[in-house]
Amino acid sequence: MNLTERDKKHIWHPLTQHKLHPESKPIVKAKGALLYDEDGKEYVDAISSWYTAMYGHCNDFIIERAHKQMLRLDQIIFSGFTHEPAVELSEKLMAILPDNQQKLMFNDNGSTATEIGIKMALQFHHNKGTNRKTLLAFEEGFHGDTLGAMSVSGLSVYNGPFEDYFIDVKRIPLPNGENETAILKAIESFHAETPLAGFIYEPLVQGAAGMKMYQAEHLESVLRKCKELGIITVADEVMTGFGKTGSYFASDHITVKPDVMCLSKALTAGLVPMGITTCTQEIYDAFYDDDIGKGLFHAHTYSANPIACATAIAGIELLQSEEIQSNIKQIESWHQQFAKELEQHPKVHLTRQQGVIFALELAIEMERYGNLRYQIYESCMAEGVCLRPLGATIYILAPYVTTRDQMERVYAAIRKVLDVF
Ligand SMILES: *Cc1c(COP(=O)(O)O)cnc(C)c1O
Repeated sequence: MNLTERDKKHIWHPLTQHKLHPESKPIVKAKGALLYDEDGKEYVDAISSWYTAMYGHCNDFIIERAHKQMLRLDQIIFSGFTHEPAVELSEKLMAILPDNQQKLMFNDNGSTATEIGIKMALQFHHNKGTNRKTLLAFEEGFHGDTLGAMSVSGLSVYNGPFEDYFIDVKRIPLPNGENETAILKAIESFHAETPLAGFIYEPLVQGAAGMKMYQAEHLESVLRKCKELGIITVADEVMTGFGKTGSYFASDHITVKPDVMCLSKALTAGLVPMGITTCTQEIYDAFYDDDIGKGLFHAHTYSANPIACATAIAGIELLQSEEIQSNIKQIESWHQQFAKELEQHPKVHLTRQQGVIFALELAIEMERYGNLRYQIYESCMAEGVCLRPLGATIYILAPYVTTRDQMERVYAAIRKVLDVF
C-alpha cells in the first residue's frame, strides 16, 4: 500500500469532507519555499503552509537552534518553573511588540491564543465587578476552531452546527470609509443593550475570510470607540504577525494600540506549534490579587516548551535581519508589478495587497468549497505551485525566502488559471 492508501485507513484530516476528497497528497520533504512529493516533483509553497514557514522550510539556522535546545532541556512544567528560552523570548518579543504590551502568556496554537484573549477580556470585567458578558467582533472574522474562538468567528461553513452553544457576540461589518457612522452607532447601541466586554479583530487583513483588507484609519475610529466605552481590544495577529503586512505587526500601522494581542503561526517559523497571548500592564493588574480566584487559571501542558521558545527566538532574529527585511520589500514590489499586469484583465475583478500578502478576486461566481475552487487548486498543483483559493479569491503568501524564479512560477500558474477557467 502506498502512503495515500495507508493514510485513508485511519486519518481524519482537518477541513476535509472525506467523501468528496478522499485522497491526500504525500509530501516527503521540504526546503526553503519548496515542497517535494513522493515522485520528486517540486511545488512552490505559495501559502507558506498556512502562513507558518515564512523563513523557508527546514531552515538550517532555526533547526540548529532547536537542536541545541533539544540536547539541553526538552520540556518542563511552566507552573512554578521557568527557563532561559522562555525569558529570552519574552524579552525579544517585547522589544518588537507595540510599547503598551507588557505581559505574556504562553499557549499552544492560534485558537488557544485567541481563547485566552477572550478569557482575559471577560475575566477582566468579572474581576472588576462590572457585569459584561458580551463580545464584539467583525462579520466574517476568523479566530480559530475551539468553542470560544468559534463564537467570535463569523464563517458559517465552519460553525453552523455549534451556533447554539456560543458566547453572546454582536457583529459589525468591516469599516470601509462609508459605514463608519453606522458602525460607531451600532457599537453604542449594542453596548447600551448589553455591556460589551471585548472586541476581537484581525487588524488590516482578514485571513480566512479571503484576505479581505481594510484601512488602518477606518479601524482606528472603531478602536477609539471601544477604548471610550471600556471595551477590551484584542488584536488577533495570528495570521498578520511577524512581518507579513510589511511591519513586524499589523498593529504597528495603527495608532490605537490593542490591549491584548494573539500570536502564533509564523511565531515558531513553521517548525513546532506554539501560541502566545500578550497584554498591557492594566489587564495583568486586574488579575493580580490576594484572592487566588482572581488569577487567570488557564494552562496548556506544553506552555512555553523550551524547544518552541528557542525556535521562536531564532525566528525573530531572522525577521530582524537585513536579509529578510530586504526580501520582504522585494516581494512587495514583485507583487505590485504583478498587480499592474492584472489591472485590465477581464477575469480579474480586483487585486489587493498589504505587505507580502497579495490577493486577487476572480470575476467568476464561485462557492467557497465548490468544485471550481478545487479545479483551480489542482491546476496550480499540476504547475508545481501550492495555492489554496478561498472562494473566488486566490492569494499568495509565500515564504520571505522565495526566489524571483519561484515567484515567477506562482505568477505563471495564476496566469494559466486566468486563461483556462
Ligand atoms: C489560523 C488562525 C487562527 C487559528 O490558529 P490555529 O493555530 O489554526 O488554531 C486564529 N486566528 C487567525 C487570524 C488565524 O489566521
